[in-house]
Amino acid sequence: MEEKTICAISTPLGNSAISIIRMSGKDSLKIAEKYFSSKSLNYKKIEERKMYLGAFKAEGISEKCLFVYFRAPYSYTGEDVVEFQIHGGEYLAKKILEILAKNCSLALPGEFTKRAFFNGKISLDEAEGVIDIINAETQAELSSAYNLSSGKFNREISAFQKSLTEVLAKIEVALDYPEHDEELITTKEAQKVLLEIGDKLEQIIENSSSGQKLKSGVNIAICGSPNVGKSSLLNALLGRERAIVSSVAGTTRDTISETIVHNGIKFNLTDTAGIRSEGDEIEKIGIERAKKEIENSDLTLFVVDLTREMTEEEKALLKELDKEKTIVVLNKKDLAAERKLSGYTCVSISAKREENISKLLNLIYEKTIANKIDLSKIVLTNMRHITILKEAKKLVDKTLQTLDSMSLDVVAFEIKRVWNELGKITGETETEEIIDEIFSKFCLGK
Ligand code: GDP
Repeated sequence: MEEKTICAISTPLGNSAISIIRMSGKDSLKIAEKYFSSKSLNYKKIEERKMYLGAFKAEGISEKCLFVYFRAPYSYTGEDVVEFQIHGGEYLAKKILEILAKNCSLALPGEFTKRAFFNGKISLDEAEGVIDIINAETQAELSSAYNLSSGKFNREISAFQKSLTEVLAKIEVALDYPEHDEELITTKEAQKVLLEIGDKLEQIIENSSSGQKLKSGVNIAICGSPNVGKSSLLNALLGRERAIVSSVAGTTRDTISETIVHNGIKFNLTDTAGIRSEGDEIEKIGIERAKKEIENSDLTLFVVDLTREMTEEEKALLKELDKEKTIVVLNKKDLAAERKLSGYTCVSISAKREENISKLLNLIYEKTIANKIDLSKIVLTNMRHITILKEAKKLVDKTLQTLDSMSLDVVAFEIKRVWNELGKITGETETEEIIDEIFSKFCLGK
């Protein structure tokens, strides 16, 4: 299908050093020729991927700018593409866009990348990697996005599909020539391939079970009795003042959340109300919220005061917490000797003097990330991908369980189902709605 030519401003609106306006489609060059000229440019002999300095002239505009042409299929979209790099004024950019749009259509969000997908320049998962690159806020998110956009994940999935195709081909042969009695051997081979794929899928799923955390951040609740130094600890972790610090018990009545980045990972810290059984109505609500916060968090920092013994209430509360998901933070070490609590991950700190804060941060990282996610392997952060892999794994397991009692054509049918499921990742079997849904997440001009 011949697509219409589209245009968009590809840089954010607002004033900046430069703005880029992009056109894609077969009329791009013809439209550019109407407005842009340069002494060094002869449109009949235009050199692709070369910057031309010249002027964009139309409707009272005489903009000195840069111009570049990418000939199809050697462009981002796979079509003829032109780009203008102009001064970064919002009015100017909009004006030029308006002029160009008289000759072509305005692009929808993600339309350039969608065309790249339809023209076979990138697969669906690689396109999703591009969205993730744009939206990445930390190094970990960026690395995971690069794994997608560079096709590392895609190659792995395609390799699974290739092995399945090979088994399918062998089944076809066995079915076509039943006299060769290959059925048993073929079933054994199918079993071997399915077992291998099942194992690998399991590994990726497991390594990605915490992958969502790379996007949303690891949730950490800071809890403990009033006045142990929870707000001070939050401030020390943030490296700046944010929560209200006071020596009157019960000042932190609501929860306060802040995000920090450590080792490329986002950590969402929530300072909860001091937990104690007495107190007025508002405090009780705060305490309820604190308990919820602990339930929903990936890790709890249980803060205690080194200058006094733990109260019975504190001991009881600590018992309720999951040891694997708790770090006991012994605060105010500037005033008292350091202690340990056997059976728990502990660290003595001084929130006030900001002592041992890095040690605590490293412990937090170890407990939530280092021991849970192998960042050197593929970590999926995209729920769509994880759901598909889980479904594919389910289909593999189901087929393996009943493989011996299945006839070869049923085996072939089941293997095709696995193949199709995996194809949803790369876009080989995908429906139009899902493709639209994915590209609608892009910004304009991408
Ligand atoms: P919260 O009620 O648990 O949030 O406790 P705050 O952070 O408001 O601290 C209660 C009091 O303890 C304040 O007066 C803080 O200055 C003090 N405090 C907190 N951390 C330390 C510490 O490490 N050393 C000392 N000496 N005082 C601290």
